[in-house]
Amino acid sequence: MGIAENLSTVQAKIPIGVKLVAVSKTKSNESIMQAYAAGQRDFGENKPQELMAKQKDLPRDINWHMIGHLQTNKVKYIAPFVSLVHAVDSLKLLTTLNLEAQKNNRVITYLLQIHIAQEETKFGFDYKEIVSLIRSEEYKSFYNVRLGGVMGMATFTDDSELVRSEFRYLKDCFLNLKNDFFKEDDEFKDISMGMSDDYIIAIEEGSTMVRIGSSIFGVR
Ligand SMILES: *Cc1c(COP(=O)(O)O)cnc(C)c1O
Repeated sequence: MGIAENLSTVQAKIPIGVKLVAVSKTKSNESIMQAYAAGQRDFGENKPQELMAKQKDLPRDINWHMIGHLQTNKVKYIAPFVSLVHAVDSLKLLTTLNLEAQKNNRVITYLLQIHIAQEETKFGFDYKEIVSLIRSEEYKSFYNVRLGGVMGMATFTDDSELVRSEFRYLKDCFLNLKNDFFKEDDEFKDISMGMSDDYIIAIEEGSTMVRIGSSIFGVR
């Protein structure tokens, strides 16, 4: 199947109100343009230099999402144009993001990554760490970043009940944060969860944004 067909198959499973981020990492500009021609405008990448190179060559109206772990020394490559940073996983990264956004005279929207998987290898904060981050003086001094919600990655497993419980936990974290800190803040609205293998479950558990690569572009 071609990319446009794959895209419409995926889109048919995603309800209105859930944003599809087409994950184009390692894929060519030609492949991205096939999805673009079919109407896709949100694309996700996990390597800053690759993201920067693609942004330079591809249409201006693409919304570029930085979806993976981001090293602080690479924030500068994407700060001028990135639409959403999905996986802020440290105060250091947030501090750098704010600084680079300021240099570019922008406000960058980001999500806080919460560690929901059983694997230690995955990045992210614990819920309690997020609460203390939000309460900190430093957080209050960041004028060039805007918190848009939370992001998480489930355990890589065939155990769909485990995956479901992890997504449910992320949704609970979101709701608690919303209730305790962001009731009046309409910008705090997104839960980025769900990839090719688990996005149906993620949507059932309240995802507002799915990041899908191989189901659209084929295996990497
Ligand atoms: C690669 C990647 C995805 C997409 O994975 P697929 O299994 O190809 O859909 C989603 N999120 C992150 C953070 C990724 O690195």
